Parts: sequence; C-alpha cells; structure tokens
Amino acid sequence: MSLDFSQDYEAPIVTASLTPGDDGEVNLRPKTLADYTGQEKAKGNLSVYIEAARRRSEPLDHVLLYGPPGLGKTTLAGVIANEMGSGIRITSGPAIEKAGDLAALLTNLAPGDILFIDEIHRLNRAVEEILYPAMEDYAIDIIIGKGPSANSIRLDLPRFTLIGATTRAGQLSSPLRDRFGVQLRLELYTNEELARIVKRSAALLGIEIEPDGAAEVASRSRGTPRIANRLLRRVRDFAQVYYDGVITKEAADHALGRLEVDKLGLDAIDRRMLRAIITNYGGGPVGLETLAATIGEEAVTLEDVYEPYLMQIGFLTRTPRGRCVTQLAYDHLHLQNDKTVQSEQLHF
Ligand code: ADP
Repeated sequence: MSLDFSQDYEAPIVTASLTPGDDGEVNLRPKTLADYTGQEKAKGNLSVYIEAARRRSEPLDHVLLYGPPGLGKTTLAGVIANEMGSGIRITSGPAIEKAGDLAALLTNLAPGDILFIDEIHRLNRAVEEILYPAMEDYAIDIIIGKGPSANSIRLDLPRFTLIGATTRAGQLSSPLRDRFGVQLRLELYTNEELARIVKRSAALLGIEIEPDGAAEVASRSRGTPRIANRLLRRVRDFAQVYYDGVITKEAADHALGRLEVDKLGLDAIDRRMLRAIITNYGGGPVGLETLAATIGEEAVTLEDVYEPYLMQIGFLTRTPRGRCVTQLAYDHLHLQNDKTVQSEQLHF
C-alpha cells in the first residue's frame, strides 16, 4: 500500500488523519481482541462471529467497519486476521484504479485470506461492480478480447473475507453495503479507555507515565487513539527536557499547553467552527454547507472529523434545520450567549 503523506505535513497535532510521525519506532497496534481496548459492543459481537466461523472451519463473513478516522478500523482488521489465523492484504479504495487491479488482487488471495480495503467508499463504479460477484459467489467475470469476438469467462476465487473500512457508511452504494454480512460501527473512546491506551503505549515505548499524566493526555485526545498516541510522543519530548523523563499531570499539562491543544483537545478549526456559528448565525441553526463555506473548510471534513467529537462533548447539536451550539460551547469560549442574556432580562 502506498501512503501519500504529502498533504499531511502541515496537519495540526490533533488531526485524526494519519501523519508521518504516527508510524514511529514501535508498532503500537494491538494484535489480539483481548489487547484491543474499548469498542466493547463491536468486539463482543465480533468475537462470537470469529469463534463460530472458526468452529465451522469457514472464513468469516464480509465485514464493514465504519466510524471517524483514527478509531482503530485498520487495527481491528489486523486483529481479525490474527484471531482467524489468516493472511491479510491491505489496500485502499483510491489505490485500486482499474477493474484489472482488483482482479489481480483477488486472484492472488489464498483460501481464507482477508482483503482489507480502506476508504472503500472511494472505489470507482467499474471496480465496485467486480466486487459484487466476488463477494457473493467467490467468482469474477473477465472479458477477453474486444468487439464482437469478446468473450466473458468466469474465474473462481478462493473463499476470502473482505473487510471494508469507511468514515462514511452513508456514501456506500446500497448494493455494496448489503453484501457485508457484518457491519460494525466504531465509537469515539471514553477518557478512561484512552487513558488505558496511553498507558499501554507508554509501556511499549518505554516511557514512564503517572496515572494523572495518562488521564491528562487522554482527556485532550478527542476520543481518538491515534491522537492519544501522537500526543503521548510529543509530551514525552517535553517530559524528557523539563521533567526528568516522567510524564506527570503537570508535565502533560505544560506540554499540551505549549502545543496549543486546549483542555478538551479542541484545535483551531473546532474553535473557528463554534465561533462562526455563534457570531455569524446567533448560535444556529446553520446548514453544514453554509458553515463550511463560512470558515473555508470542506463540509465532509467538518462532518466526519470535527462534528463527532463536538457532539460527544455536548458542544454541538444537529437539528433538522442545521447545526446549533450549546451553552457549554459559549462557556468554553468565554463568549456571551445573547439569547440567555435576553431571557434573563425578561425575568426581571
Ligand atoms: P483507522 O483505521 O480507524 O483510521 P487505525 O487502526 O489506523 O485507525 O488506528 C490508529 C492508531 O490508534 C493505531 O496506530 C493504534 O496504535 C491505535 N489504536 C486504535 N485502536 C486502538 C485500540 N482499540 N486499542 C489500542 N490502540 C488502538
């Protein structure tokens, strides 16, 4: 798989996208379900499906994993392969340009192998159509020759498991979505779960961290393990220079302050988004497209990356008429809510 990092170099530190520093010296991805923290609902069901498939000596049904970036979809695909004892091939929707590319991938699979396609919503139509018979009948139809003499031949494939990952289940065509027998939604992590992930990563990286220090990093990681691991690496640098290498609460707070990650892990775009709703639209409601245009970001980025966390911490609500901010957001940004001021004045 080729990863294009070119656009990520300027990424803010709390971005959930993969950045070059994330693939550090030690692989932090858990390999087993027991080691995979959180996502109890998804994990609970998955462990039943895996056990059942193993007892039947069959490959697992095709799995669709969806949810915001950085929550562990790729990691979970690796865990599934490990638990099933199968090989895994990793690719992504945009990397498969032609139907032939996918045909080559599929025909090279061994029985029981897993094919992981990240960003599966970005597959092009011609490629997607090859997947239908591959998923359903373990076969593909290949056209040989051109014009009137063209012939279609059917090639049988080994029985395999497709694992698709997407940030946008809604953008998948329904014929494709319906062919996944197992569909699992990954949720943002709680601070306790993230603190456990931070402690585990610190142990693997040989970093000394106090429980309060881990809690501080966790609570500023936007519910996202990828961000937690990234912040941990940066906080370690500050701890080494200023705090004898130990990550205490104070060390984490100092480092994250220097990195301009606020107490709740909000970055400049979150704050711009909330401020725009407050100052330009009186706190909302405002439509997503209008909001995106106002702050110069793409609507999909706001929807996939920023909104889930702002909704989890109760700063943003979605209504049929658009997005609204809550009083908590006003308080966090130290902005006055004219609506509450007016209603308080009415009371007097
Ligand atoms: P996604 O594919 O959803 O964008 P990844 O699988 O690449 O996310 O996960 C991002 C990083 O977060 C990984 O490097 C992994 O170390 C860490 N991670 C993700 N989920 C977990 C988890 N449940 N427990 C521990 N670490 C995790």
